[in-house]
Amino acid sequence: QAGEAASLLDGLDPDQRAAAAVPSGPLLIIAGPGTGKTRTLTHRIAHLVTERGVPASQCLAITFTRRAAAELAERLEALVGPQARDLTVATFHSLGVRILREQHARVGLTARFGIADETVVQELRDEHGDTYKKELHARDLVDFDDLIEMPVDLLAGDTSLIEHYRARWPWVSVDEYQDVDETQYRLLRLLCAADGNLTAIGDPDQAIYRFRGADVGFFLRFQEDFPGATRVQLGRNYRSSKHILAGAVQAITPTTLVEDRSLEPCGSHAEHALIGVHHAIDEQAEASFVARTIDQLLGGSSFHSLDSGRVAGDGTQGLSFNDFAVLYRTSSQARAVMEALTRAGVPFQKRSHDRLTDRPGVRAVARELGLVGLHGSVVDRVRQAAHGIDDEDAFSALELLMPLATRCGDDVAQFLSGLALGAEVDTWDPRADRVSLLTLHASKGLEFPVVFLVGCEDGLLPMRWPGEDPDPEAVNEERRLFFVGMTRAQQHLYLSHAASRVRNGATRKAAPSPFLSSISPSVTERIGEAVPKKRKPKQESLF
Ligand code: ATP
Ligand code: MG
Repeated sequence: QAGEAASLLDGLDPDQRAAAAVPSGPLLIIAGPGTGKTRTLTHRIAHLVTERGVPASQCLAITFTRRAAAELAERLEALVGPQARDLTVATFHSLGVRILREQHARVGLTARFGIADETVVQELRDEHGDTYKKELHARDLVDFDDLIEMPVDLLAGDTSLIEHYRARWPWVSVDEYQDVDETQYRLLRLLCAADGNLTAIGDPDQAIYRFRGADVGFFLRFQEDFPGATRVQLGRNYRSSKHILAGAVQAITPTTLVEDRSLEPCGSHAEHALIGVHHAIDEQAEASFVARTIDQLLGGSSFHSLDSGRVAGDGTQGLSFNDFAVLYRTSSQARAVMEALTRAGVPFQKRSHDRLTDRPGVRAVARELGLVGLHGSVVDRVRQAAHGIDDEDAFSALELLMPLATRCGDDVAQFLSGLALGAEVDTWDPRADRVSLLTLHASKGLEFPVVFLVGCEDGLLPMRWPGEDPDPEAVNEERRLFFVGMTRAQQHLYLSHAASRVRNGATRKAAPSPFLSSISPSVTERIGEAVPKKRKPKQESLF
């Protein structure tokens, strides 16, 4: 098979290829950021379907966010072609919805059951206490947790159903496995036999959802749960230039969960910039530094570039706005950055995590009794429902709801579950030529030529909540978040911190993040200081 011409596996290095070509059985791919885990996963699935004759309908690929699922589906379509339509690419929640829709009668729901948003759940809880679930289900509604819990209960109580789903999807893969929580883990155990074809991919050092119940322990015990699993480690990083990679590895080393964490730089980078470290007086100065540096990297011409879109930079970089990302720990940090970028005429897009149903008017418009009672397509019903509410709110609600309403045709149930599932106002478009503003959590899995990680301050990264005792495990998770952020960068990485910052309405002094001191000064340089200084001797500590 190795001698065959133009196999899909040719685009992989030998370790990746070995992983992608594992014939069957449980497979664990454990590897650091930028080593091509996601790439290996897509190639493995494509190889199974186009070169090994596995029907696409037998493959299930699971990820955590809608964004990641959409990206996976897109990459698969590029590799597999039209057959990709028969693959099931899902988030845990959308998989749960699918199983529940198929098995609705067994849990006393109709096939068109709705997914209640948090406010409805809260109202029922207030009214009925912890019996509220009955009320919810009686109204043909389920809540967000039900989407995974109910399929788990269903399957756990019926072996024939387990057999049904195992026969349906004999090939299951999960990206970012380090972030599964207990219910998701139980669902996977039910869907996959201990000797089944489950491919789990992940990096324990990028486990960042512990606060939401994820447990990296499930990843670490994969080989006990699935005895005889093949374990493949990937060690070449194709993403980041060497100083960035070295600095990131140094940053994670004190608490790494991976025994032999080594990452060899393997990208095709023409130059290797040091990691830029910037000390600012306050968050405005920090934000100006970001705007100024973007402008400089674009050749100081961002003002003129707005018409043409792409900027040649100094002729060597060829960067454009969408090559830049600004990452931060909390969304409230975005404001200063947005102001500075606006002043500099730099176009940007912020990935928002606000819940759609928190937006003025949306809840009023989407109130299920309203919509179900109305007639016509979902678009028509949404328009009718918007009639009755305050003008400005109606306008914003319509703007937010129309893309989803249009996709749903006549299916109100689909609209309502879409609303609950896609609960975030997420207009972030990876193709738009704009600088991306993202939280560190939202940056997982992504990569950008230039990354600014702002607010590297003690108390912010690691985050410390007032009045809370520092929990060492929580601090370790913050360090992993820092590692995730650093490893998004391909060519340039800037770590900045401000000596003072307004937090919760008060100006507070801040010390640099202790994580910075894990990074050797030999891979960093101080830049963008207000008062230009002579270059420091390499060995002097920066912090
Ligand atoms: P993360 O842990 O951040 O999710 P990952 O391990 O999933 O990272 P990918 O996103 O799959 O990594 O790959 C990182 C980058 O390296 C991508 O741009 C990918 O195309 C590139 N890459 C991976 N493997 C190779 C290869 N064998 N040859 C060339 N480029 C590669
Ligand atoms: Mg990945």
